[in-house]
Amino acid sequence: MTVFNFSAGPAVLPAPVLERAQNELANYAATGVSVMEMSHRSAEFMDIAERAEASLRRLLGINDDYSVLFMSGGATMQFAMAPINLSAPDDTVAIVNTGQWSTKAVKEGQRFANVHVAASSEADGFCSVPDFDSWDVPASAAYLHYTPNETIGGVEFHSIPDVAGDIPLVADMSSTILSRPVDVSRFGMIYAGAQKNIGPAGITIGIVRKDLLDRAREDAPSLFKYKSYADSGSMINTPPTYPWYMAGLVFDWLEERGGVAAMAKINEAKAARLYAAIDDSGGFYANPVAKNARSWMNVPFTIADDALTPVFLTESADAGLVQLKGHRSVGGMRASIYNAMPEEGVDALIGFMSDFRARHG
Ligand SMILES: *Cc1c(COP(=O)(O)O)cnc(C)c1O
Repeated sequence: MTVFNFSAGPAVLPAPVLERAQNELANYAATGVSVMEMSHRSAEFMDIAERAEASLRRLLGINDDYSVLFMSGGATMQFAMAPINLSAPDDTVAIVNTGQWSTKAVKEGQRFANVHVAASSEADGFCSVPDFDSWDVPASAAYLHYTPNETIGGVEFHSIPDVAGDIPLVADMSSTILSRPVDVSRFGMIYAGAQKNIGPAGITIGIVRKDLLDRAREDAPSLFKYKSYADSGSMINTPPTYPWYMAGLVFDWLEERGGVAAMAKINEAKAARLYAAIDDSGGFYANPVAKNARSWMNVPFTIADDALTPVFLTESADAGLVQLKGHRSVGGMRASIYNAMPEEGVDALIGFMSDFRARHG
């Protein structure tokens, strides 16, 4: 049976990437050793590392004004690293709150700076993106942080907010990076944990405008300073070598598939079909998110009769559609349909949903 994995993260990886990794697992490029077993300073690994960065730069059009950093600690560590690197303790940082991940960025940020919530969709249960016109960003803000895709709520920004003046825009792109083209030049800093759309857990990508690298707090540990990574090729200490290699394989796969513009077309079509299946179910299924803010990557949905939720989860898993359980705080279902989720997987889910409704509706 073909299994389609809808996990929100760690998430599905492209099948050709896993096969290539399997082929190279014990003996990389005729070296006789695994990538896991080689020095991060060996010629072979340096080549892996440099090729991954070059590929990411091509995919996202990242120019030389930006450093690309490969870090550990997940996106969660960035909730602290962003203020430590881009603000002083008595600075104000502006954060837009659109759900559970931005709420965490607010809470962690408060430990390191004065956080001003510039806009929030909490009043409508985090089911929308606040109108850009309503955002209240202090002119003195050290930066403005937002979460382009809220992985739990399934809320996505479909355009980049304009920021007045020269306030750097900082974005947690963990669950949307590489799903569509993005104008990197609009950002001061982008970060993304790998385990949604890049590779296995354990590595976090940072894309930082170089002129911001000198803002870090003097007393910050070196592993917390973007500049240490930028100056050392992300090799201050031993980096997560295997996730870095795996990320490189995913970047190769994306380039072979035509890059992020090609992925965007597929992702938009996958999401449109799945939302149509929910909206056209006569109220059997529902998604609470405002239509202009629905995520292409994470699609939460509920069944009107919640008693059917465990039945749906059991039967769908039996049909090979796995990890559809909604986040523990939300309930219901969540289908994460990242780049590596093939169109056939989404169509199999839609077919199952229709069949389930016919049997239980
Ligand atoms: C998953 C996720 C995080 C947390 O990532 P960790 O690697 O677990 O720290 C933060 N932000 C967003 C948007 C996410 O999807």
